[in-house]
Amino acid sequence: MNVDRSAAAFERAKTVTPGGVNSPVRAFLAVGGTPRFIKSARGAYLTDLDGNEYVDLVCSWGPMLLGHAHPEVLAAVAEAAQHGTSFGAPTQAEVDLAAAIIDRTPIDQVRLVNSGTEATLSAIRLARGFTGRDKIIKFAGCYHGHVDSLLASAGSGVATLGIPGTPGVTAGTTADTIVVAYNDRAAVRQAFATYGDQIACLITEGAPGNMGVIEPGAEDGIGFNRFLSDLCHEHGALFISDEVMTGFRVSKSGQYGLDGVGGDLMTFGKVMGGGFPAAAFGGRADIMAHLAPVGSVYQAGTLSGNPVATAAGLATLRLATADVYETVDKTSEQLRAEVHAALEQAGVPHVISHSGNLFSVFFVAPGVTAVPDYTAAQAQQAQAYTAFFHSMLEDGVYLPPSAFEGWFLSAAHDSTALDRIVAALPRAAQAAAR
Ligand code: PLP
Repeated sequence: MNVDRSAAAFERAKTVTPGGVNSPVRAFLAVGGTPRFIKSARGAYLTDLDGNEYVDLVCSWGPMLLGHAHPEVLAAVAEAAQHGTSFGAPTQAEVDLAAAIIDRTPIDQVRLVNSGTEATLSAIRLARGFTGRDKIIKFAGCYHGHVDSLLASAGSGVATLGIPGTPGVTAGTTADTIVVAYNDRAAVRQAFATYGDQIACLITEGAPGNMGVIEPGAEDGIGFNRFLSDLCHEHGALFISDEVMTGFRVSKSGQYGLDGVGGDLMTFGKVMGGGFPAAAFGGRADIMAHLAPVGSVYQAGTLSGNPVATAAGLATLRLATADVYETVDKTSEQLRAEVHAALEQAGVPHVISHSGNLFSVFFVAPGVTAVPDYTAAQAQQAQAYTAFFHSMLEDGVYLPPSAFEGWFLSAAHDSTALDRIVAALPRAAQAAAR
């Protein structure tokens, strides 16, 4: 595969941008090799600068639920842009997008922002302002964007780079952050027993997708999110469900649509922006009433509710019908079965972990049958993933360039795209076996 143009673009990029990329995972650091510079994307496919075409299993890390360049989303964007691209004043479309989010979730009110990071940092600030408490609980391996106080034991790029937190975040900033292991009920109980009346909130991903995908485990018929929500309420703390990744992707109503557990506050991004920078946080009306300009907790944004991003988000949510979720769920199930069969055939120990249609493949040590938390995720055989990844890439399948990420599908991944992935699997499985 010729990647000369991507290689040249990467060299040039490195002279003007640290590492040549605007978000670390794009640099292929974890897997090595030349990051592909993308020229265009349509449906389930990416085309790089050298003209190589790939079936895309990253989907922009989640937003492209309908596939790339969906004609109706493009038309909505073009129509909105005709009328001006930013006003710094309210619009009707913003209200429509807020209503569309509220319609799909248990929350009463929404505030639009520009990124998932902004959504979670604003939700944390609001939780602290509302409760008058300082401490927060998060899970090791859960990533909520690059919010200083949440960069303690985070997943995603932080996991990939193996950075335990990051320089630049002061000890003071994370001093009020309590980190516990995911799916560890005793640890969460212990944290509340020790700090209960100081805890403003617990934040969790609807289902973790940033240390690879981890399933929220059930015990005695009670799901992990229900357990967390109940425990928060026992102690007067808020439960924040971060659905930036799962929201409007794993079902019409996100993770809430799967387990029925909403947050007092919830955060959204990715799909609701239709490929544009748009995100949101929202929750109970009495909590949201503490937000400026009604309340005293400050939060703002020059481009928040941007009309072009709003149009893309509205069109995406409108087009994300039951058929779309049925298709993505079915494709996910088929692909999981095919990956399992190929790895089994090649004798590669693995765990395929999924929550709804979101899944990832852990290359584990022999005998390991479950990956319930970050410690288990970190124990995976990263070199096997690297071999698997490069073989798939050579055969025209673009997987996440890190073993700590989920695989994303879209409604545009049809049988042709699936066949191409399936055809590439045996060679990749052999590569992983070596
Ligand atoms: N929360 C979750 C669960 C995420 O997966 C991400 C990004 O991957 C974020 C928050 C941060 O969103 P953004 O990258 O838009 O800032």
